[in-house]
Amino acid sequence: KEHGKGHYQAFVEEMDSAFRYRQRLKSDLAIAIAEGQLQLVYQPLVELGTRQVAGCEALARWTHPELGTIPPDVFIGLAEETGLISSITKWVLKTATAECVHWPDAISVAVNVSARDLRGEDLALHVAEALEASGLAPDRLEIEVTETALIEDREGAAAKLEVLAAKGIGIALDDFGTGYSSLSYLHGMAFSKLKIDRSFVAGIATSERSLKLMANVARLGHDLDLVLVAEGVETEEQLEIIADHTNIDQVQGFLFGTPLPALETRALIARMNQTRSRPKAVKGRRP
Ligand code: C2E
Ligand code: MG
Ligand code: MG
Ligand code: MG
Repeated sequence: KEHGKGHYQAFVEEMDSAFRYRQRLKSDLAIAIAEGQLQLVYQPLVELGTRQVAGCEALARWTHPELGTIPPDVFIGLAEETGLISSITKWVLKTATAECVHWPDAISVAVNVSARDLRGEDLALHVAEALEASGLAPDRLEIEVTETALIEDREGAAAKLEVLAAKGIGIALDDFGTGYSSLSYLHGMAFSKLKIDRSFVAGIATSERSLKLMANVARLGHDLDLVLVAEGVETEEQLEIIADHTNIDQVQGFLFGTPLPALETRALIARMNQTRSRPKAVKGRRP
């Protein structure tokens, strides 16, 4: 009994401190943007056929002055609860588009938006402002949404995404295969891209079923005129299997490095896409 009570006490204290931790983060997050504690890092989406960078996904990072790095899986959820997500998304759009204009013309940038962004009225406005301020062409911006973000108000979300798509902005369905009734979201939504979740990729080297699932999702996606991406590619072996057994268009993952700040991303793109810019360099060296 004593023992049980001790455990319960520890549990309560732990819950209490977890709660206080979240409360602390929530209130600190309010000043994080203004104080420049948020950064963006980028991860390349690599064209499978050419091994060249086609675009980059912007991923938010929060470096808390005392608590250190807080991952987006934690603070995006808190930002949704407090309503701060709208200002975070606004900041991400503004920053990502401003950085992408310095990349080669063919390179696009993808920004993640959350469920609450799709409920409110700010998203279209913030997208327009970011494009206007940066001068980035709309077809170089992509918006990533997850299935879970579409559950609540599907019709409303569909309408909002349709407005963005009509401007030429790409819409990607992120983490495909992890949500509910996955396939049903492909009806009547303005998607241009399908990102197959990394849980599929994780199994392809060891499980025939995972590979078959992935290959067939890719086939289906292509039938629907979607660009297909495999997320979470970590090994050369996985890359080879994807190339040999599926018709996936683009891959993304730690195989090409961890996400990097904007400047390093620029250098990475230059390095990976150098065959494309080689003619220019040759021309420059001619007498
Ligand atoms: P996501 O959009 O699916 O982004 C991909 C996540 O997988 C990133 O985690 C990335 O670092 C990680 N990743 C990439 N390649 C690999 C790999 O090969 N192996 C493994 N194990 N992981 C890989 P991150 O940056 O921690 O972001 C987590 C999630 O947080 C994102 O998932 C996205 O849903 C959300 N998120 C990140 N930035 C933002 C943002 O600015 N706004 C919103 N609303 N959500 C964001
Ligand atoms: Mg994403
Ligand atoms: Mg994803
Ligand atoms: Mg994810």
